[in-house]
Amino acid sequence: MKRYGKPSAPLLSLKPHFFNENEELLQRQRDLAGLYTKEPRRLRCKACDGPIDTVSFSKLGIDYLVCPRCGHLNGAHEDSDTFCAALYTEAGGAAYARDYSAADREAYRTRTSEIYVPKARFLADSLAAHGESPKALAYADIGAGSGYFVSALRSVGLDNVRGYEVSETQTALANEMAGETLVETHALDDTVALAGRIEAKVVSLIGVLEHLQQPRELLAALKANSAVSYVYISVPLFSPSVFIEAAFQDVMQRHLSGAHTHLYSESSLDWTCREFGMNRVAEWWFGADIVDLYRNILIRLTQSEKTAGAAKLWAEMIRPAVDGMQEALDRRHLSSEVHMLLQFDGGN
Ligand SMILES: [Zn+2]
Repeated sequence: MKRYGKPSAPLLSLKPHFFNENEELLQRQRDLAGLYTKEPRRLRCKACDGPIDTVSFSKLGIDYLVCPRCGHLNGAHEDSDTFCAALYTEAGGAAYARDYSAADREAYRTRTSEIYVPKARFLADSLAAHGESPKALAYADIGAGSGYFVSALRSVGLDNVRGYEVSETQTALANEMAGETLVETHALDDTVALAGRIEAKVVSLIGVLEHLQQPRELLAALKANSAVSYVYISVPLFSPSVFIEAAFQDVMQRHLSGAHTHLYSESSLDWTCREFGMNRVAEWWFGADIVDLYRNILIRLTQSEKTAGAAKLWAEMIRPAVDGMQEALDRRHLSSEVHMLLQFDGGN
């Protein structure tokens, strides 16, 4: 099962700050880049573990290396415990529960239904097309965050689902919104062990693999876990967005920045599938490359008095063409993101 493209309207309506808070967001990324470049040098590819030593280009002061063996795009530094802890957990147990307003709840529901339900539905449809009965299976969502995907699975009728998350604040939000305990916390250094003992036929990693310190060890643990047959991944890709960001370094870098220190490519995913004995069951290619192009040019135009008048004209001209342009990239597998349902071959 293959699918291409996705409407850009929900993304544009949910991310106005990408346009309105460019300077603040960019400064945060510059700060994170400063932290990241103090990390030890990365000497081996995050996807295939082969040696990497030739810098291809630099962006926001960070060197990037394309793996000569698998085509993965690697940032030049490691993501150490310190770096990951700063990004993903609350320092000093600062997790907090707060009161959520009706507006918070409404925003949560909107984000779930517009962004995550389509991902959940694609998973259910792909499993059904592959001969499974999706409602009869157990699901585990690793890196569940605030529970959006868990909530989306439930809303498409997949009830046997648990989420696992390292942030206590996000877990608290997830369970508060669900009205029951669907997500549980685990220690950052327990992630691989958790994958080895999880009891679910389908494990989802939605925007997770690229954030893990040990993505290869996690996949090996899932492969060794006989309860697990399917892995549903969503990963950011080495795509045109990377080049747009490299060309517009005074515009917020949505894709390859902050916690994204490396990006998969179709070839590094192929390598990963071969190494861990997985087959592609379904894939959905879609991206925000053209939205990035639209936004980068728009912001640059507004940054100068001489060109500010062109910004509105640019928006009116290009907006209606965005989805069609992106789908042309998606069909060539040049998307900034892909969802794949993978199945372990052999025993599982
Ligand atoms: Zn590699």
